[in-house]
Amino acid sequence: MARKQQTKGKCVFCDREMTRSGLARHLRTCPQRQEAINAANQASGEDQPMYHLQVQDGWAGDYWLHLEMKGTATLKDLDRYLRAIWLECCGHLSRFSIGGWGSDDIPMSRKIAQVFQVGVELTHIYDFGTSSVTLVKAVDVRQGKPLTRHPIFLMARNEMPEVKCMECDQPAAWLCMECIYEFNETGALCDEHAREHPHGNYGEPMPWVNSPRVGMCGYDGPATPPY
Ligand SMILES: [Zn+2]
Ligand SMILES: [Zn+2]
Ligand SMILES: [Zn+2]
Ligand SMILES: [Zn+2]
Repeated sequence: MARKQQTKGKCVFCDREMTRSGLARHLRTCPQRQEAINAANQASGEDQPMYHLQVQDGWAGDYWLHLEMKGTATLKDLDRYLRAIWLECCGHLSRFSIGGWGSDDIPMSRKIAQVFQVGVELTHIYDFGTSSVTLVKAVDVRQGKPLTRHPIFLMARNEMPEVKCMECDQPAAWLCMECIYEFNETGALCDEHAREHPHGNYGEPMPWVNSPRVGMCGYDGPATPPY
């Protein structure tokens, strides 16, 4: 099988489009980002460590985020953000740990600066039944002022993965869970084939949203950032 294309996304500072790993490198040296940081650093108050976190789904890594997070914010703030942008369907439990199941929970009250240093990767698990696994890795840290009053600033996010309709090769915009669960198909459908699709045991085909949880436990978005 041919290596499938990596998803790309845009740097919010300069609009350049790159892969996840390309952006991890680019964001360190992006001149427009540096300008934004210089401007933010003019504000009064104390400097604090600001963490560049690379977030990706624990499955294929097609879904990812580059976040900048305050060292004084907590894992709870990160959990809230991940739920809002990717995960929340019906209020399941979640946890952070170093390593997956079998490793100890890290309390949600822990501060970002207490758990992360460059190179440290945490595993986030949402829903202990139909689990969504997310990996969060600190790739860089700077000392200075935040770019936002919120705990997190979104620096980049993957564009929707290009998935083809299983019937006709047009871009898919819908997902049929019955195809996945009962027939071991991708369940990906274009507009036209979604309209005439015969399955309804798991509900109508649902819209494909930009989240690794799409379709799991009925998740249908909105998959938009909380701020
Ligand atoms: Zn840039
Ligand atoms: Zn659920
Ligand atoms: Zn089609
Ligand atoms: Zn189907």
